[in-house]
Amino acid sequence: MPINTDTLSTHYRTASVNLGEKKLLITNFHNTQQEKDLSEPPNCGGVGRIRHFRRNLGDSWIPNPLPIDPACKALGLPSTDMMRSQVFQNAVCNWRCWYCYVPFELLSANPHHSEWLSPSMLIDRYLSQTNPPPIIDLTGGQPDIIPEWVPWMMAELRSRGLEKQIYIWSDDNLSNDYFWRFLSDADIELVATYENYGRVCCFKGFNTESFAFNTRAEPELFEQQFNLMNRFLTLGIDLYAYATFTTPSKQQIREDVNRFVDRLQMLDENLPLRTVPLKIQEFTPVKQRINMAIADAWQNQQIAIEAWQQELESRFSSEERAMNIADVSLGT
Ligand code: SF4
Repeated sequence: MPINTDTLSTHYRTASVNLGEKKLLITNFHNTQQEKDLSEPPNCGGVGRIRHFRRNLGDSWIPNPLPIDPACKALGLPSTDMMRSQVFQNAVCNWRCWYCYVPFELLSANPHHSEWLSPSMLIDRYLSQTNPPPIIDLTGGQPDIIPEWVPWMMAELRSRGLEKQIYIWSDDNLSNDYFWRFLSDADIELVATYENYGRVCCFKGFNTESFAFNTRAEPELFEQQFNLMNRFLTLGIDLYAYATFTTPSKQQIREDVNRFVDRLQMLDENLPLRTVPLKIQEFTPVKQRINMAIADAWQNQQIAIEAWQQELESRFSSEERAMNIADVSLGT
């Protein structure tokens, strides 16, 4: 049975936010399986981790400029190929992607591996370290089960006079409309106009089959991802997209990648230039989930990325494809 996304989203929202106290449930990495995959020990009392975003993975996959280029542009820093960021992870997600690098036990509001924290407490812990990174990455889990998290953090940084020095980056799996359902107009305005903020929305597949296989969600929610992306595009946020190309079937990959790029361009002509296909890698939790279908999906992502590159080459000039991703205009 596929996941009932609405039911699970409601359940996890209730379990992981305290609106009255302005707190949410943040993963504590100490003594978790995820801790083994970290290149540095957890920080901020266990609820933070340092992530090194790297442009190049050093293999045949395409470079990933996110969030390096948007952050450098916003903060007025010179271009670089690696940036440190301070990651906080909320402790719930409504989907269960087989390739998730977060162990599933850290996605279910697990009281043994999480803490109730306010934005103020998170910023206190972030600032108490030596040399805090210039990026704060609000990730998950699915941060947008608690869409208040992003404007809360913005307001906290602004109240401390830190909004010009720190770049906020958050991701979203495009699984619900909570952003509009639960945020006030003032919060939406804050997110839409906050200068040092970038948001990446993740397309979990390039067709219905790959989406359902990857997420275990209802297949029809593949369509919903485009509708939600469209709503975000109208807000004027500095918006980017990830796409995952793992798929159980070799059939029609080229045709469906072609259609996927069409769909992105129906939302915005330049959206493919702000979209980065992510290579699915073998983190510790993923190794335990591997079966024959997953092994095939792993291989098939290579066919899909080649099709993606051909599509982009046929639709955009080499100058357009070489642009800094943060300079690609939307709403043209
Ligand atoms: S949506 Fe993201 S956090 Fe949730 S299971 Fe998938 S990869 Fe993991």
